[in-house]
Amino acid sequence: MIINRVDTNKVPVRVKRVKEIIRETDFFSLCILSDGVYAAIAKPGQGAWSNAGIVDLGEGLLIFDSFATPSAGYELRKQAEDLTGKKVRYLINSHYHGDHVFGNQIFSDTTIISTSLTRKWFEENNKIVDLNQEIEETEEYLKKLKEQIGVTADRFMKESLTSQYKEMSAILKDLPTMKLVFPAVLFEEKLVIEGSKRKVELNCFGGGHTPSDTFLYLPEEKVGFMGDLVTVDLHLPIYDPEEFSTILEKVKLLDMETVVPGHGYPGGNELLCTMEKYLAFLIGKTKEAVKNNVSLEDFVSNLEIPDPYTEWRGVNGIRGNLSKVYAYYSE
Ligand SMILES: [Zn+2]
Repeated sequence: MIINRVDTNKVPVRVKRVKEIIRETDFFSLCILSDGVYAAIAKPGQGAWSNAGIVDLGEGLLIFDSFATPSAGYELRKQAEDLTGKKVRYLINSHYHGDHVFGNQIFSDTTIISTSLTRKWFEENNKIVDLNQEIEETEEYLKKLKEQIGVTADRFMKESLTSQYKEMSAILKDLPTMKLVFPAVLFEEKLVIEGSKRKVELNCFGGGHTPSDTFLYLPEEKVGFMGDLVTVDLHLPIYDPEEFSTILEKVKLLDMETVVPGHGYPGGNELLCTMEKYLAFLIGKTKEAVKNNVSLEDFVSNLEIPDPYTEWRGVNGIRGNLSKVYAYYSE
């Protein structure tokens, strides 16, 4: 079912206007980061679901991630071409999750790029075999979500579930016309695109959030479009906690002044540090529990969760990640 292939909930909660917003659309706010470099920051519950990037290379545009629906992807392309007067030439898929790639069909006439591993996971996990079945399963999922929202007392969990409900409803609306378009140009660790106006670097330092996570780095402008290697106030899904930490360590060695997260508002280096600390917390507590033979059930229910993690969003909460990391170290 297609809903298993989008991320669990993503809500930009703290609206910090660190970058100048130049345009508002139904799906996203457009921030200017540098001349010809823009971040499209998703508005919660509208079907964009994740952030995207627009980079003017000189001869044409590069788009970083295509949002969760063709409707949002269409608006992204329209705004990008209208804003710059140039055509999109490249689309990058940071990782295979649906909330970053379900808008791909809008860019099917451009060169779509990802790592070969992302393409493999995309093809294997995002298939729509039977449209009617997908629609039925999504409707069923939404029904269950609604019930869950009704009985959830915790404010932050309720907000997370509600946002999930809205995003999935937007996907359901677009499902009948959705076509999955896969990346056609593949790389492994690094790909540099030299435009007449600027140079951009695609880097994959491994897989932390998914088996393969790519970020876009603009060395001159010191901007990083991080995909879901960086998110804000969110218990994001973790694929490999150790590798995730190693990737962030390497990213920190780059000269990066503006960090655009996959979900939430752009900031500076502090966003990287917060992610690192979160992972260190999960890893540290879990290792200790595994070493002391504490059962998963006792560990997850008895661990005291420090602020600010209690206020972070995510439909599985921090306990979902603690279970995931526990399984990783128990193997
Ligand atoms: Zn993701």
